[in-house]
Amino acid sequence: MDDQVSALQARGISAVALHSGRPWAEQKAQRAEARTAALIYASPEKLKSPRFRKWMRDIGIAAAAVDEAHCVSEWGHDFRPDYMSLDVLKSEFNVPVMALTATATVKVMEEVADRLTLDAPTVVRGDFARPNLTFSVEHVQGDKARAARVVELVQDQPSGRVIVYAATRKRVQAVDKALRAVGIKSAYYHAGRSSQARANVAAAFESGKKRVLVATTAFGMGIDHPDVRLVVHANAAGSLAAYYQQAGRAGRDGLPSRCVVLYSSADSMTHKRLRGNNPRPGAVAGWSAMQDYVFGQTCRQAQIIRYFTGEGAADCQGCDACTDGEAVAEQVRAARDGLKERGRARDAKKRKDAAVSLDSDQYTIIASFVGSLRKPLGKALIAKGLRGSSAKPVKRKGLAKNPEYGSLRGVPESTVLDALSEMLEDGRLVRKGRKYPTVWLPDKRVRAVREPGSKPRRPVPTGLKGALVKFRKAEARRRRWQPFKVLTNAVIDRIISEQPATTADLYAIKGLGEKKVLKFGEGILTLVRQHA
Ligand SMILES: [Zn+2]
Repeated sequence: MDDQVSALQARGISAVALHSGRPWAEQKAQRAEARTAALIYASPEKLKSPRFRKWMRDIGIAAAAVDEAHCVSEWGHDFRPDYMSLDVLKSEFNVPVMALTATATVKVMEEVADRLTLDAPTVVRGDFARPNLTFSVEHVQGDKARAARVVELVQDQPSGRVIVYAATRKRVQAVDKALRAVGIKSAYYHAGRSSQARANVAAAFESGKKRVLVATTAFGMGIDHPDVRLVVHANAAGSLAAYYQQAGRAGRDGLPSRCVVLYSSADSMTHKRLRGNNPRPGAVAGWSAMQDYVFGQTCRQAQIIRYFTGEGAADCQGCDACTDGEAVAEQVRAARDGLKERGRARDAKKRKDAAVSLDSDQYTIIASFVGSLRKPLGKALIAKGLRGSSAKPVKRKGLAKNPEYGSLRGVPESTVLDALSEMLEDGRLVRKGRKYPTVWLPDKRVRAVREPGSKPRRPVPTGLKGALVKFRKAEARRRRWQPFKVLTNAVIDRIISEQPATTADLYAIKGLGEKKVLKFGEGILTLVRQHA
């Protein structure tokens, strides 16, 4: 927001950005300035506050623009729930609304219009083609090979800026290190760094002190350097729309620039993990489009245009598929063969493991291992202990001291797990634990593990109270705050007695200020609803 405001001010247009989370005095000054400004910038979450909306009604607004409007769409690549509340622009303010985005498929455009309740909107679509960009894909196996290839690509591009995207913070740092090791002026950027470090890195890239920036997708909102000559994705992006937005940061000045994706099958696992257990269907579809792109053998630019518009396009004559289609086909063939080969090796190992079975002594060892436990444990951990693993949780639970620790070393893990399942089934072992299924001997009492003389535990709160306490703990840990800074016990009690149903109800609760409602309001309301 600040970049855009200063760019407007430089052109003589009065603009102001309203930030939440700043001291109240500063916010008041910004609001005073905003009364006479032509353009006001605010984040979508601000519009959730009834007080802010009242203020907006007071000063009166003539029109609204929603930037990065694809964030409204669950089918977009960057869905943000806060954008969903922007329908108030129509329902409460009834002003003309313009939605702006650089990356929207036809489906996303329709959803944006729907969510913002736009009434028969005029659609203005620019040209998706970027004729000065040269797209290519390289299939690379292994992190070392990837980092080495990034170094080569940067060395082949001796002038102009370079952005390297990697999927995780760890990969970002590894690639940055590889670049610096050969004397390239590189810096790295990800959300795990302090805001000061991030500002320094951005400034060094801005001034040209650092020519290369290695970053996660946390970098880039609103950056606009004309002379980015190369954008390398050291891992495939999470979706094709995200890819085109990031690659599109190359060659803004219209001069020839390259956009290269380095892909390996490991990217598929990485993005699966990043999407989490309950991914949006849009996120899954976005990744599958990205995969179609990296395994595609036709003009890259035309593939991208077809993805966004649903319409065909002329070949660009510059990308790898246009200039050396045979090499692209060969590369895809080799990658597919590699995948098949690795799949076959995996299957062979599985078959070999499945052929191993335990003798009766080994079953006795398992029972004896479980018998020596102080507390019931999960199957995976028991198998690890039996196989003599030195993994951290094994040490932490003291399994290395179990007399049978490592007695089944060399037996495949799947065989031990199968044996445990079999023993649970035939009653030689029993299940304990509700939250996580754990394993125990039948007829053996589970003793409460408490140090002698220690205080008995306080009862754990349940219901809404328990949920709020848990919520407080999680939020506090995430922000490294003391729990009472999130919600005090008194506020929790008030929430329980007031049972708020709307944001307005939350504002009425003593001890819940605007900042807290913005940060935690949605979470609290969800919990109250769940425990109603
Ligand atoms: Zn092409």
